[in-house]
Amino acid sequence: MTASLSPSPLPSGTRLTLFDLPLDVVTLEQALDLLGEWMFRRPRAPHTVVTLNPEFIVQSRTQPEFVAAMQSADLVTADGVGIVWAARQLCGREVPRAPGYDLVRGLMERHGPELRVFFLGAKPGVAEQAAQNAAREFGVQVAGVHHGYFDPSEDGRVADLVGASGAHLVLTAMGAGRQEIFNQYWRQVLGAPVLIGCGGVIDVLAGTADLAPAWTRKLGVEFIWRVGLDRRRWHRVPRLAQFVRLVLAERRRR
Ligand code: UDP
Repeated sequence: MTASLSPSPLPSGTRLTLFDLPLDVVTLEQALDLLGEWMFRRPRAPHTVVTLNPEFIVQSRTQPEFVAAMQSADLVTADGVGIVWAARQLCGREVPRAPGYDLVRGLMERHGPELRVFFLGAKPGVAEQAAQNAAREFGVQVAGVHHGYFDPSEDGRVADLVGASGAHLVLTAMGAGRQEIFNQYWRQVLGAPVLIGCGGVIDVLAGTADLAPAWTRKLGVEFIWRVGLDRRRWHRVPRLAQFVRLVLAERRRR
């Protein structure tokens, strides 16, 4: 299984295998350094970034295309404490967290006006708002915006639009699986040096979803706040329970 994993761009020994997925042992600062290097390096070459969370693991058990997209990613970070716990259980390693929101915010803070960002995803109007807010707060250049509710038959057209925008950074926020598969399949057309699948980040930047409170983020347990307070997320509880069962079963199996 591990043979199909793409080589890690990080020093050897820093890429783990969790189930059949890669996971890079990388701090937020190291990830930001690496992405900064990719974004401004010549010649430009596309790189995909996955911020792994428990739901990705559960969902990908029945979606081989999603597994393949994650296996081909150039960087896979631990989005939250669930992945940190699983890596401890199954690999005996401490993996630092580098959540999607922190990566995106960190890149905008570090690179501000030199950074061209394409905002792809969320409901119509939300990406525009996110782009306006990011331009105001961080001074980033808006390479383009597009909502995330288009038919798969439109994928090529949207990828061309992104490719023509000259973005350094593409935020693809179209839901778990869809966003990673899209980034991986279209990476050469998208062309931007960094393509991040980043779930609800456009909503948070737009202010249409709240960021979990700082204390939950510090402890890495923001999912408790998200699931607990948002009724629409209650359906996720069984998936998180399934994740715990999967990890424990895998540990027993070994
Ligand atoms: N989203 C999208 N297109 C879709 C499904 C979702 O653009 O077909 C957006 C959604 O509006 C939100 C983000 O993707 O901004 C994450 O959605 P959700 O929380 O449902 O996804 P998950 O947390 O399961 O990845």
